[in-house]
Amino acid sequence: MSKPIRIELPTEYEAGPVNVYLFTEPEPVLVDTGVKSAASWQALTAALAGHGLAIHDLARVVLTHGHVDHFGQANRLAQVGGVRLETAVIVAHRLTNFTDYWQKRTAYYQDIFLPQTGLSSPMYQFMLAYFQIVAANYEDVPAAALHTYANDATIQLGGLDWQVLHTPGHCSHQTCFYQPDTRQFLSSDMLLKQTPTPVVELPADGRTREPSLPTFLRSLEQVEALDVDVVYPGHGEIFHDHRALVQQQRERILRRTEDAYACIRGGCRTAAQITAHLYADRSLAIQFAGLWMALGYVDLLLEDGRIAAHEENGVIFYEQKL
Ligand SMILES: [Zn+2]
Repeated sequence: MSKPIRIELPTEYEAGPVNVYLFTEPEPVLVDTGVKSAASWQALTAALAGHGLAIHDLARVVLTHGHVDHFGQANRLAQVGGVRLETAVIVAHRLTNFTDYWQKRTAYYQDIFLPQTGLSSPMYQFMLAYFQIVAANYEDVPAAALHTYANDATIQLGGLDWQVLHTPGHCSHQTCFYQPDTRQFLSSDMLLKQTPTPVVELPADGRTREPSLPTFLRSLEQVEALDVDVVYPGHGEIFHDHRALVQQQRERILRRTEDAYACIRGGCRTAAQITAHLYADRSLAIQFAGLWMALGYVDLLLEDGRIAAHEENGVIFYEQKL
């Protein structure tokens, strides 16, 4: 059996580099790919060479979710190296239709979601720039090149059986891999040292945002219940003691939810106002991620019936429920 080797690849995002993991035995397999960029390709090639491998030596690439920092160079690996691409059924559609999805999601942000939050134009500009970076950081994966497994399949990595877990929250189609005998957990973006942001996705009906943090907290509980020794996260260093981290993140989320509640009681009415209050004086990048977090807190308060929401002229307003 072989353990996953962490390879850190550069991105152009505020979140910093992304981890991909290499298993060398019994066949070279990569988990995730990094963004599609010259720097990322170069770093991956160099890291593989450090283990005596070239791109075409990779037998398989397994993809955890459809975010460009994780699957961006998958198509190139298949094209250049003839590498077999694998992912869960729930992830597959996003990989094969990312361009279409991204266009629709961009339109949703511009026309519906951002106006609903009551945000002002500097954030719009920031977001548009971000959308453009993403658009340059991937290639769609041709459906014919993608092999799928069930969302609860068992897959082979490093000569061991790993359970696929579907853990929505960071995104609707997040998957992670768990190896119960050796208690290893490839957590992707489900469990990171820093709480993963609950990304606002294109809703199924194109308009009604799905609750995010309530879903994430349920997945966090699912992960907490696992017997884990070592966590291999999608960003940052390998770590232990996952239950302490889960507990810490849950407490922080609940504490910040109380901050958001206090803010609404104090007169904050829109998501933009709550974000400005919770993330005052922070950079636009932090506020962008902060907007997703703030909406997550709002979702928890809505789920608990502590606040109510109503839409007026395309803007959503929140108020304390008596
Ligand atoms: Zn992600």
